[in-house]
Amino acid sequence: MISSTPQTDTVHVIGGGLAGSEAAWQVANAGVRVVLHEMRPLRMTEAHRTEGLAELVCSNSFRSDDAANNAVGLLHAEMRRLGSLIMRSADANQVPAGGALAVDRDGFSAAVTKALHDNPLIEIDRAEIASLPPTEWGNVIVATGPLTSAPLADAIRELTDENALAFFDAIAPIVHKDSIDMSVAWFQSRYDKVGPGGTGADYINCPMTKEQYDAFVAALLAGDKVDFKDWETNTPYFDGCLPVEVMAERGHETLRHGPMKPVGLTNPHNPTVKPYAIVQLRQDNKLGTLYNIVGFQTKLNYGAQQRVFRTIPGLENAEFARLGGLHRNTFLNSPKLLDGQLRLRAQPRLRFAGQMTGCEGYVESASIGLIAGLYAAANARAQSLEPPPATTALGSLLGHITGGHIETSEAGTRSFQPMNVNFGLFPPLASVPSKKPDGTRLRGNEKTVAKKQALSARALTDLDRWIADHLRVAAAA
Ligand SMILES: Cc1cc2nc3c(=O)[nH]c(=O)nc-3n(C[C@H](O)[C@H](O)[C@H](O)COP(=O)(O)OP(=O)(O)OC[C@H]3O[C@@H](n4cnc5c(N)ncnc54)[C@H](O)[C@@H]3O)c2cc1C
Repeated sequence: MISSTPQTDTVHVIGGGLAGSEAAWQVANAGVRVVLHEMRPLRMTEAHRTEGLAELVCSNSFRSDDAANNAVGLLHAEMRRLGSLIMRSADANQVPAGGALAVDRDGFSAAVTKALHDNPLIEIDRAEIASLPPTEWGNVIVATGPLTSAPLADAIRELTDENALAFFDAIAPIVHKDSIDMSVAWFQSRYDKVGPGGTGADYINCPMTKEQYDAFVAALLAGDKVDFKDWETNTPYFDGCLPVEVMAERGHETLRHGPMKPVGLTNPHNPTVKPYAIVQLRQDNKLGTLYNIVGFQTKLNYGAQQRVFRTIPGLENAEFARLGGLHRNTFLNSPKLLDGQLRLRAQPRLRFAGQMTGCEGYVESASIGLIAGLYAAANARAQSLEPPPATTALGSLLGHITGGHIETSEAGTRSFQPMNVNFGLFPPLASVPSKKPDGTRLRGNEKTVAKKQALSARALTDLDRWIADHLRVAAAA
């Protein structure tokens, strides 16, 4: 018989994606029992294709790995210091991608699944949680992601007394490498950047003349799009993941200043002629047999995608391993609904993690899973955990979700939107560097670089102090 006494010593994590997998790992690492409930393969989402935990549904990139100059690279470094399973599995399965950390998606997911499966404190329950969790689950992390199944989403929406805002995201197509014409395309990373596990020649580049670009933009605009359903017509796009044809609608040159910018690359087949625009493809699997078209998330229908993308020089005979598509995103109005420890104010036994909290991206979702796991484990041990310093990438993202966002909308509609980690979320430096080590003044972009590096250095120092003061002490108690 199930006891009706709340079980706070066992943590229940709902959703075995990026956030839920990391959360379960952190809870178990703190010595607390955890049950991870994942509905796949019994019930699939619109985007997941496998039963693997932490499946990457679109790009295989964890973005920049540069901890000194880039906020997401800094978040990688912080998560590694916190023993992240997601980062450990990504590092073990990386594929070359210039300055980015990209992974073999199947190897990555298999590594996460195996580590969780092998952990004696973790039980994996393959079941959909189709209503609010039973009341006897006293310590729950909900990490069901942007594609949370409808019954659970409805139950949460009712509990929060809000209409969860949904918006559109779109995924990019993947091409078989051996179908790309390398007598037209060439391998090169922008500015020959080497990056982690890279060679400086990691991307496949397809050049376009002005005429080809003009015709391509016209074809994008004319291509048939997937129809909107009634409820979707007023749903806005998230700016960080605009479909390629929506970017084209914003202006004829928009793509040339975005994913198709022709800078930092030289066509070896025709070195004297500068391409007017360039389409890049990034390696998608460890074998190097699949490449995704960078920034080409799309809502064109399948027929239009094949026709229009095959007008790209080098892709005339492209075979697509997966075509792009649209998806829904569900997330809470977290600054209003969650407390500083990611608990639902209306029902504090429910803690949220991942993209549902209004962060955006694989790494950000996993990082919020990480901190939710640490909080839940502290709860289970009747301890409390100070939040990570606001000066860290993790603390600044958490702060944004749980209170940093300022509600600016009039007429009562919420303005909170999913957010990637960025240096704009960090508290300002007490003193901004103005001189180089040799005493000469920093100029122009040097100042921006020095500021980012100072923010990163401060973050890592503060994170180390927080780990020593709070996590090591908690572990010893
Ligand atoms: C189509 C699509 C493309 C995206 N592309 C990118 C990208 O290219 N790069 C990027 O950085 N981010 C991308 N994102 C955004 C986001 O970072 C990812 O969705 C990320 O996986 C979010 O992590 P998560 O753990 O919150 O959710 P998920 O990784 O989606 O994990 C949620 C898990 O919960 C399970 N689940 C759902 N409902 C239930 C239930 N009721 N009971 C039990 N289990 C349930 C799901 O099966 C899933 O395994 C994309 C999102 C989508 C939907």
